[in-house]
Amino acid sequence: AISNNNHHALLLVSPGIGHIIPALELAKRLVTHKIISKLTFFYGSIKTSTPSKAETQILQSAIKENLFDLIQLPPIDLSIHVSPHDTLETKLAIIMHEIPLLFMSTISTMNLNPTMIITDFFFSQVIPLAKNLNLPIFAFAPTNAWVIALSLQCPTLDKEIEGEYSIESKPISIPGCKSVHPLDLIPMLRDRTQRVYHEFVGVCEGAALADGIFVNTFHELEPKTLEALGSGHIITKVPVYPVGPLVRDQRGPNGSNEGKIGDVFEWLDKQEEESVVYVSLGSGYTMSFEEMKEMALGLELSGNKFVWSVRSPVTKVGTGNLFHSRWVGEEGGIRTTLESNNEPSFPDEFYRIQTNGIVITDWAPQLDILKHPSIGGFVSHCGWNSLIESVSCGVPIIGLPLFAEQMMNATMLMEEVGNAIRVEVSPSTNMVGREELSKAIRKIMDTDDKEGCVMRERAKELKQLAERAWFHDSPSYLALSKITHSNGV
Ligand code: UDP
Repeated sequence: AISNNNHHALLLVSPGIGHIIPALELAKRLVTHKIISKLTFFYGSIKTSTPSKAETQILQSAIKENLFDLIQLPPIDLSIHVSPHDTLETKLAIIMHEIPLLFMSTISTMNLNPTMIITDFFFSQVIPLAKNLNLPIFAFAPTNAWVIALSLQCPTLDKEIEGEYSIESKPISIPGCKSVHPLDLIPMLRDRTQRVYHEFVGVCEGAALADGIFVNTFHELEPKTLEALGSGHIITKVPVYPVGPLVRDQRGPNGSNEGKIGDVFEWLDKQEEESVVYVSLGSGYTMSFEEMKEMALGLELSGNKFVWSVRSPVTKVGTGNLFHSRWVGEEGGIRTTLESNNEPSFPDEFYRIQTNGIVITDWAPQLDILKHPSIGGFVSHCGWNSLIESVSCGVPIIGLPLFAEQMMNATMLMEEVGNAIRVEVSPSTNMVGREELSKAIRKIMDTDDKEGCVMRERAKELKQLAERAWFHDSPSYLALSKITHSNGV
């Protein structure tokens, strides 16, 4: 084991639950495993969006644990740079540009004496900015190795490919790794006329200057990609270390309806083993009324029992938001907006199916639900945290990828890992149809389905491998401890 030392790390994290949750876990492990002795956790924030109740509670419980200091960076005012109608990606471009500058100016006014910096991969522009501090700098990617391989290949692709990647007829190749289908590309790379494209290439160039990149994955999940990233500098000179699965080991905040959450577990206790599907599209996605109706019908058609973590819908198209998740009843949240605008509440189908399951309209204790023996499948939007949690709990996945790198995540699990099925959006309706959804659920849940059986077995095998990755002196622990063995430390 690594002995204690006098290292003080500054950890910089992006706003958004999908970043904060794994970064807090990383910070906890660095400190509790005594890899470093002190850590200061900086998190970005945005002026115009109140952090969700869940985000606030997660940060507050970290403050209470008192393992490290938490500092909120001054909120950035997106309205100076973008209009409310701009895409998520445009906002992301501003955030990727502004937060590294803000972080540098904030730490320059503080007397912190850090010995290393760990930055969210999104903020890798910190790496060239902090060069004159002469400290080792690492990037932390709350995603998988394949997405990082594509990202590190970006500066090369930028030089080699002319025109849009998305109209390339052939898959985008990454040396030593599975190629990426143009339709699965992360949205930031889809349009080279957009600012976010150039910002992201800059981020990837910055990351290539890091002393190491930590990724929330483990060897057996992505052996080929990790080998390509690690061996012979095929893609990059930067060492890439798998440090996952970084999954919380405690109950998350339960929100206001604790009684109801208790009912979920009481209800789950009464169900047969592996007979219930858990459904969640993550912290940041709000379904449209029509999408919700279709999903309710799909669940009904499957005949399966379910636990569904959901928010009330919006009228038109569903929306993704990485930085603010809206929950029913939250201040500034969606119910208030809906009532004031006379927009629809839940569709009738949604109420009708509730005899066959449980609906959670507040923050769901996802990890505890996934751990419950009655859960046999997870209908997921394929956010990486949800997937790595599902892998750790041995639950196979019915993937409904929506935005960001979720399409790549779904493809990887389905084609390389073998514990998931992916449901395609119907081009005519731009939604996942009820038939397709129910078929996919039945494939995973039906004990007679041969393919489903293979996926369920694979999911169980992965659970054991995931547990081993974080035993003491395990590969992920040893990879993380490299942080104190790097150049100059
Ligand atoms: N989560 C949760 N309860 C919910 C919704 C989400 O605990 O009701 C957690 C989930 O366990 C995961 C994170 O929020 O850790 C969501 O991250 P992910 O990367 O899956 O998706 P995102 O929300 O970033 O789209």
